[in-house]
Amino acid sequence: MQLNKSNYYSTEANLHYMSGSQLKSFLPAYEGCEAKAMAKIRGEYVEPPKDAFDEGHYLHAWNEGTLDEFKVNNPSLYSTRAPSVGQLKSNFQHCNKMIKILESDPLVMKALAGKKEVIMTAELFGVPWKIMIDSYQPEVGIFSDLKALKDIGGKWWNKETQCYENFLDHYGYTLQMAVYAEVERLVMGRDKWLIPHIVVVTKQDLPDYEIIYFDYDVIEASLQIVKNKIERVKSIKSGLVPPVRCEKCEYCRGTKRINRIKHYSELALY
Ligand SMILES: [Zn+2]
Repeated sequence: MQLNKSNYYSTEANLHYMSGSQLKSFLPAYEGCEAKAMAKIRGEYVEPPKDAFDEGHYLHAWNEGTLDEFKVNNPSLYSTRAPSVGQLKSNFQHCNKMIKILESDPLVMKALAGKKEVIMTAELFGVPWKIMIDSYQPEVGIFSDLKALKDIGGKWWNKETQCYENFLDHYGYTLQMAVYAEVERLVMGRDKWLIPHIVVVTKQDLPDYEIIYFDYDVIEASLQIVKNKIERVKSIKSGLVPPVRCEKCEYCRGTKRINRIKHYSELALY
């Protein structure tokens, strides 16, 4: 299957290819759920639209240089209610503020330069993978991903590992960057990885931002995690093993049936 921007996120592409976010969607450590992941891949479950999703698209359209076109094609970005009819909705006006801040920093613009939205595919751990790199600069040995988040300093409780973690681990960005680095390396037939960078910008009233880079140690460690997890995900995706329901996510709540009464002590806080 040949991938392009219009079919990259299609059901067909998700069935054929694995991706960093698809792998994470199976793994409880990243708030994934096997049952929801499979329902999504099969096209049986569509996640309810989230503002954060559209804001991400808005920022990526800016990075790609197609923001004007994006605005024309997405009338839902504009308010239909008085007195702000026809104006950008306030959350997208705030995106403009985030963009302005990024544009004003030369090092950010340097990190985000290069070829935009580069799609690559390669076989990794016995399955075909797809990646889309936001900003690709092999000539300087780096690639960059653009992320918008609430707060750089936030901490999240990981039930599996029983400890707090930062946004990089919580959202599995290290894992995602490692997959990008490895797929790119395989496609180019190089023996060394490009250095993955993430440009993060926060949604705070006065946005904060940072450029973060990763090293070979974390790429190796993250690829090891992928290797450890991929076999089960492969067997679920091919239908050999039934997916387990997490009974907590939106998909599971929406399809819930109680088949066992819980003992009061099962309601753990942490
Ligand atoms: Zn679930």
